[in-house]
Amino acid sequence: MLRLASCRKRRQGGVLTVDMSEFQEALLKKRRELLAGEGLKPIGSMMGNSRQGDMADQADGINEVHIALKLRSTDAKIMQAIEEALERIDRGTYGVCKDCGEMISAARLRAIPWTRSCITCKEKQK
Ligand SMILES: [Zn+2]
Repeated sequence: MLRLASCRKRRQGGVLTVDMSEFQEALLKKRRELLAGEGLKPIGSMMGNSRQGDMADQADGINEVHIALKLRSTDAKIMQAIEEALERIDRGTYGVCKDCGEMISAARLRAIPWTRSCITCKEKQK
């Protein structure tokens, strides 16, 4: 967490009115949650457990593995987005829409701290 301290120092004097540390903490918290989730559900152990049950249990076990794999790919995308958002905080470009260059609203950043587009651009993509 050394980068946290150095980032705070660099942040001062910017034109941004939004407090980056709030979003940085939200991002770090989410990242911790994702990392903790990975540790709790090793796929190998679930496969092992399913072998001890009857046929129905085995089917459940397979479904669980599929769900876990699906979650993992979503988590991996969010994880990547979180890493990128943390980098943008370091560089001082966090909260700027990648499409139009406008500031993303604080309300939107609070809802999805790793977002890269403002709500206007996001809706245009639909
Ligand atoms: Zn935009």
